[in-house]
Amino acid sequence: MRAMVMDEIRGPLDIREVPDLAAPAGGVVIEVQATGLCRSDWHAWAGHDEITLPHVPGHELAGVVAEVGAGVTGWKVGDRVTAPFVEGCGQCDWCRSGNAQVCPNQEQPGFTHWGSFAEYVVLHAADTNLVAVPETVTADAAASLGCRFATAYRALTGRARLAAGR
Ligand SMILES: [Zn+2]
Ligand SMILES: [Zn+2]
Repeated sequence: MRAMVMDEIRGPLDIREVPDLAAPAGGVVIEVQATGLCRSDWHAWAGHDEITLPHVPGHELAGVVAEVGAGVTGWKVGDRVTAPFVEGCGQCDWCRSGNAQVCPNQEQPGFTHWGSFAEYVVLHAADTNLVAVPETVTADAAASLGCRFATAYRALTGRARLAAGR
C-alpha cells in the first residue's frame, strides 16, 4: 500500500510503498476514505509522543472494512465505519465504565501503531471501537467525529454540563 511515512522527528514525510497490513486478532484493516489532520499529529511529528520510526501518522479517519481479524463478530468486509481516536481494549474496568479514553491498554492509530495517512489502517478491538457510518454521512464528515468532534462534545456536555437552552 502507499502511505505517508515519517522517518525522523520533525523531518519531511515521504509518500511511498510500504508492506500491506494484516488484521490482528480482534481487529480489522480499514480502507481509508478520509482522514483528518490535527494538532495531535503535530505533537507526534514534533517528538512529544513515544512513537517508533519509521511511522505513519493519522488518527481521524473513516473508511470501509477491508479485512476482519479472528474473533471479530460485529463487522464484515464492506461495512462503512469510523472509530474514536483512542481505541479502548473493551475488557478493563475503565472501558466497561464508559471511560475508554483512559484505558491502560489503549491503542491509538497514528501513535501506538501506523495511522491513517495511508491507503489502509489497522483498528484494534473492533467490536468495542468501530462505529457504523450511515450512507447519508460522508466519509470526510465521519472522519471528524472520533477526535475533534468527540473531544469538543464531551468538554461541553460532560465537563461544562451545557444543556439545552443554556
Ligand atoms: Zn485529532
Ligand atoms: Zn480497556
